[in-house]
Amino acid sequence: MMTEESPKAPEYPNQFCPVCSARLQSHRCKMVCPRCGYFMSCSEFE
Ligand SMILES: [Zn+2]
Repeated sequence: MMTEESPKAPEYPNQFCPVCSARLQSHRCKMVCPRCGYFMSCSEFE
């Protein structure tokens, strides 16, 4: 369950960590999980 979910969507689509289901945070051109450290490049999206 998400407890820190923002009521407003950011400019990027919400992505959730496949490992721990936390919402990923955008860091320049990659998405980083603040909980477990998982990250993926933006180029992997779409
Ligand atoms: Zn995670």
